[in-house]
Amino acid sequence: MYKYNDNEWINNIIRYYEFNYAAAGILFTISILLSYYTDKRYINGLFTLWLSTLVTWYGHYFLHKYPNTSIAKFHNYTHHSKFGKTFLGKFLEYTINEMFFFGGGILWILVLLLHNYSGVYYLNPYIIMWWNISVPLVHEIYYHQTSKTNIHQLHHKDHLKSLGPDIWDVILKTKHHDTHMEDETSIGLILLIWCILYLFIIKLFKNTL
Ligand SMILES: [Zn+2]
Ligand SMILES: [Zn+2]
Repeated sequence: MYKYNDNEWINNIIRYYEFNYAAAGILFTISILLSYYTDKRYINGLFTLWLSTLVTWYGHYFLHKYPNTSIAKFHNYTHHSKFGKTFLGKFLEYTINEMFFFGGGILWILVLLLHNYSGVYYLNPYIIMWWNISVPLVHEIYYHQTSKTNIHQLHHKDHLKSLGPDIWDVILKTKHHDTHMEDETSIGLILLIWCILYLFIIKLFKNTL
């Protein structure tokens, strides 16, 4: 694996934010919005979203770092294969693997279990749930349904890199050396639309419960 020196590493982080201050701002706004309409614990909401994105990077990294575990074999079969291009392949990958595992489902289950024992929600479960669905949404709509070159295509060539989200690849040095920095503004817009829709769904459920 390419070893980044400190200068390149810092430069990559700066370059990331040069391209993505808008997307970062959108994500920040989403976390404030979701906190406002749920538990109003804003710092906790930001931390929840931050941790969920890290769980996504680490969960996906784990799958490729330890390819002999059964869940890793499952990801290879449902995503890095011909079967991954079929409807059933996508369905299995996005529901079981992403929503319930590296999309953050594993974190969601933990938060609910801890709530069962202590009566406290240590993280905002609504935000984790929103992220759970955001992962397959962006993965499929933005990365697989658009024809333009994107950073995720590199992950399909070299599985231990560009695991996503891009910022974690930059910070944790799994970004391909000398590759372009993804402009995530359109991803941010997809997420914002999804956030507004999600808030309506939450409101609907709260009214019917
Ligand atoms: Zn993919
Ligand atoms: Zn993968």
